Amino acid sequence: MDIQQHILKLRDELNEHNYNYYVLDQPTISDYDFDLRLKELQALEEAHPEFADEHSPTQRVGGAITKNFETVVHDYRMYSLDNSYSKEDLLDWEARVKKMIDGEIQFVCELKYDGASISLTYENGTLLKAITRGDGVQGDDVTANIKTIRSVPLRLKGDYPPRFDIRGEIVLPFEGFNKMNEERIEIGEEPYRNPRNTASGSLKLQDSAEVAKRPLECLLYNITGNNLSLSTQFESLEKARAWGFKVPEAATLASSTAEVLEFIDYWNIHRHDLPYETDGVVVKINDLHQQEELGYTSKSPRWAIAYKFKAEQVSTRLNEITYQVGRTGAITPVANLEPVELAGTTVKRASLHNADQIEKLDIRVGDTVFVEKGGEIIPKIIAVDLTKRPVDSQPTHYIEHCPECGTELVRNEGEAQHYCPNYNGCQPQIIGRIQHFISRKAMDIEGLGGETVALLVKENLINDYSDLYTLKKEEVIHLERMAEKSTDNLINGIEDSKSVPFERVLFALGIRFVGETVAKKLATHYKNIENLALATTMDLVTVDEIGTRIAESVVAFFNSEQNQNIIERLKRHGVQLEICAEKLANQSNKLEGQTFVVSGVFESVSRDELKKMIEDNGGKVSSSISKKTSYVIAGDNMGPSKRTKADQLQISIISEYEFKNLLK
Ligand code: AMP
Ligand code: ZN
Repeated sequence: MDIQQHILKLRDELNEHNYNYYVLDQPTISDYDFDLRLKELQALEEAHPEFADEHSPTQRVGGAITKNFETVVHDYRMYSLDNSYSKEDLLDWEARVKKMIDGEIQFVCELKYDGASISLTYENGTLLKAITRGDGVQGDDVTANIKTIRSVPLRLKGDYPPRFDIRGEIVLPFEGFNKMNEERIEIGEEPYRNPRNTASGSLKLQDSAEVAKRPLECLLYNITGNNLSLSTQFESLEKARAWGFKVPEAATLASSTAEVLEFIDYWNIHRHDLPYETDGVVVKINDLHQQEELGYTSKSPRWAIAYKFKAEQVSTRLNEITYQVGRTGAITPVANLEPVELAGTTVKRASLHNADQIEKLDIRVGDTVFVEKGGEIIPKIIAVDLTKRPVDSQPTHYIEHCPECGTELVRNEGEAQHYCPNYNGCQPQIIGRIQHFISRKAMDIEGLGGETVALLVKENLINDYSDLYTLKKEEVIHLERMAEKSTDNLINGIEDSKSVPFERVLFALGIRFVGETVAKKLATHYKNIENLALATTMDLVTVDEIGTRIAESVVAFFNSEQNQNIIERLKRHGVQLEICAEKLANQSNKLEGQTFVVSGVFESVSRDELKKMIEDNGGKVSSSISKKTSYVIAGDNMGPSKRTKADQLQISIISEYEFKNLLK
């Protein structure tokens, strides 16, 4: 098969797997196999830029940077929807519709997804542009970002019209949202408030590679265009599905308002089981000719109406405001409520976020407050019932001192949160930092859990993570719930952690804003902790993906004498504070600018090892031979066509041993 055909075949295959995975939720190959094929395609495309295609599945990883989003006029205006809140509202709407059109009416009931609206234009089966709603007449061109969303087809299937717009909603499912927040909390950033704002914020990120990392989805519900030969809304949904779009399955036909109400009642309860947020139902007239007859008001179609679910709300008494201190010293005020039932769970606490929020609500102990469960997982207080405020109520004074250690709190300019600056002496910060140090993605210390860490700190056996390495069996064995075996496990686990590689140690140190990826970048760049500790903010920002905020945080960390001592102790105990010597020795830029093709079976190394050696030394691996190939490394059973090609282009064929000589 020739190269071009092979590329096309791989693209088709990968598109199909993407579709199975992201649209149907039914993957048919493992993630590993998918990655292998994607890498193969990437290598082929790299070696053959003449076959590049902006709609290739390799484009999903993003990379395009948009400094300013271009404003584009929509081909067809994007309207908003009229809202209704009751059965009566719906009946009124139905009556208005019936006055304007004759004949039978059928409705389509759909869920109203809460995200960011988007209009996608397809031409000849490929995505041409993606525009935000904006003011309805014109929006922003966010095509580069939208392309990274796996459920947006880059190429359509089946029998699609030559050109059309399709509208939908970009949503962030709860699961992905929570995961993003866990990662943010891990590096000491404030969590995002709700999936909807995070979804719409994502569309305007400048770096599309960043968007690619977010688990966004695109749900479609409307096709617009000329000569589409569609006759009903329901048919549109089915067609869109057949062309490869993700169209939610909930959409249902109804022939009376009674049936519409059944749909609403059903989803009012079951919406809590959906993977993403819905805030209501959209009822549409099914027949597209009838829709045309009904037309639009100045801002919304007459042929559709939104029914908003009532956010579940209860009122209860605020008993107390307490303050939590996080690992980074951030203070979070918590409302302790008189327990109350809400959306199927008992609510006792609600987050108050920060001092501004308390001031804004003017919330006071003893107040009766309205609690709502909206997009957030944690219920929130939306207002105070002032009619029930006790006469002797006192305004809330935000605490000025840390509830744990008594240190005066600080609040940096531009930040919402107060902080306890007592980095080295505030117990929840100390415990939190050590808990982070031992966690799975960091030092992964087996036999030691978060509760034991808290106990060890409270018993004064450890005060920072370097103290773990001097813990003695006799000290630990007396602790609550510890026995001979569990103590051995703990001590052995700590010992084993001395072989954890530098990049993970760096993450484990808990430097604010230094997450896993940043730690890896810094480790590779600086090679050891001494170099990193000496780096200035100016040095640091020259490293790929490191901005001033991270840089300043790193510098501040190493400026602290206490941290310097801790690191000194870690070093003494044999914790890895430099990139493994072997790894370092195997890295160079000797092969920079050279491209290798690896073919056949080898004696001394596997193909993957060989490829890694090439990359570690600055070379490039390609899967096919071209004029740009510097060497072909041939093992046993090298394909005859490759050999012919190499001969034709006069490219040297070398053995694995000759290759190793190149590195010497
Ligand atoms: P609103 O923003 O309240 O005027 O509501 C209109 C918005 O609802 C539209 O712009 C869409 O983004 C959104 N929407 C969500 N789901 C649907 C749906 N199934 N049909 C139509 N619009 C929807
Ligand atoms: Zn404190």
